[in-house]
Amino acid sequence: MSEYGNQRTIAAISTPEAPGGIAVLRLSGEDAFSIGQRCFRSSSGKAIGDMAGYTCAYGTFLDANGADLDNGIVTVFRAPHSYTGENVVEFSCHGGLYITRCLLESLLHAGADAAQPGEFTQRAFLAGKMTLTQAEAVMDVIGATGERELRFAHAEQRGALFQRVQKIKDQMVHCLGDLAAWADYPEEEIPAVTPEQLKTLLKAVEKALKDTLSTYHYGKILQSGVSAVIVGKPNVGKSTLFNLLSGCQRSIVTDIAGTTRDVVEERVQLGDVTLRLWDTAGLRETSDAIEKIGVELAQNCLQNADLILAVFDGSMPLELTDFDILKQLPQKPMIAIVNKSDQKMQFSSADLAEHCNFSQILTMSAKCGDGLELLQNAIEQLFYNDNIAPESGIVSNTRQKKCIEEALQQIRLALDALEQGKMLDGVTILIEEGLEAILTLTGERVSETVVDDVFSRFCVGK
Ligand code: GDP
Repeated sequence: MSEYGNQRTIAAISTPEAPGGIAVLRLSGEDAFSIGQRCFRSSSGKAIGDMAGYTCAYGTFLDANGADLDNGIVTVFRAPHSYTGENVVEFSCHGGLYITRCLLESLLHAGADAAQPGEFTQRAFLAGKMTLTQAEAVMDVIGATGERELRFAHAEQRGALFQRVQKIKDQMVHCLGDLAAWADYPEEEIPAVTPEQLKTLLKAVEKALKDTLSTYHYGKILQSGVSAVIVGKPNVGKSTLFNLLSGCQRSIVTDIAGTTRDVVEERVQLGDVTLRLWDTAGLRETSDAIEKIGVELAQNCLQNADLILAVFDGSMPLELTDFDILKQLPQKPMIAIVNKSDQKMQFSSADLAEHCNFSQILTMSAKCGDGLELLQNAIEQLFYNDNIAPESGIVSNTRQKKCIEEALQQIRLALDALEQGKMLDGVTILIEEGLEAILTLTGERVSETVVDDVFSRFCVGK
């Protein structure tokens, strides 16, 4: 057993499993140096175990039979000054699939265990190198698809959300301190905390929790993008728009009404805007069985979408049936796209605005690719709130959201209890429950199951 734990030494390929210039394999644990040494012969003759932390050595990687496999670099990190807090060796070899697999096999043969998804970061968390919210931010950093997402993920990694909830935690602890002083030392002439004072304190906690919870809407969009559904009558150009946005011919474009039968999802990067785009079958009455399945799927997508893109054919006069579709839609932000602007337009934005309350109306030609910037700007204005500073700390996943909701519920119950003149002991228990939820959020007091669940969503090698 080492000073830094008695865990198995783990190994994984940390770079994507695809051919590339360089691949990195990572080894972490008490025996990292000795296991690494069995798979490497340095050109200088120096053993890995004799290398100083943060230094590299060039040499030959050996396969499981001890034969020369490839040449490259090892980098040594000595506990506790490593990502995991344990001894770590990183192998940088040529990024061939065969080489990386053989080298991993060699490390496993030499005594390492295959790392589970997220196990390196899990060890970093368990070693106290980061809080749970910071660990979660590691995946957000990796998953960031744009500058804005990366800025937020980095702020979370530096502990923005942790610090935000830390303040709420302090307020809760303050309430509990007042209650404890009152309960434990009644004879000490400690002025009793009045229910009114407590109510004021708890109201502040409730507000802080509510404000934090409200950031989830933005956090979700930053993490997974704006999910949007394209709707409209047949032949208005929905598939053409979808293909333009996704940059490939995924859905079938034809002149025959109702040929888009499936729901196809595509992650689309529009400048700094990430769209999760659902292309749906025309939302209309149909007797065609296959198409009906598509329509049902479309309804499901609509319920879950953040945004509706309602497409109209600007080259045809507006008809009442153009709006039949919109009547079936749930209340959501909706951008009207008047398509086919390369042809003579038969109606104006103002004509459309008379019929329906759209968030924005814009004109474009999906066929020619005109107007994409207008769409990007419209979505940015609707969904990307640049008034929120990354450092303010935002809730970015459902686990964090559930913890805040739980804390909020307990604080509200405590407020109700105070309102009803209940005993302060009962109020104390409710605040403690709320505090528990906050500690689960930050990982300061958290069950193994929750920790395992968080890291199971990571990639192997991180
Ligand atoms: P959907 O049924 O709404 O998915 O419509 P499609 O995307 O299949 O398009 C129907 C027809 O309109 C096809 O012939 C497209 O080439 C045409 N179309 C789509 N967008 C435009 C456009 O911006 N300008 C013109 N002129 N034709 C378009």
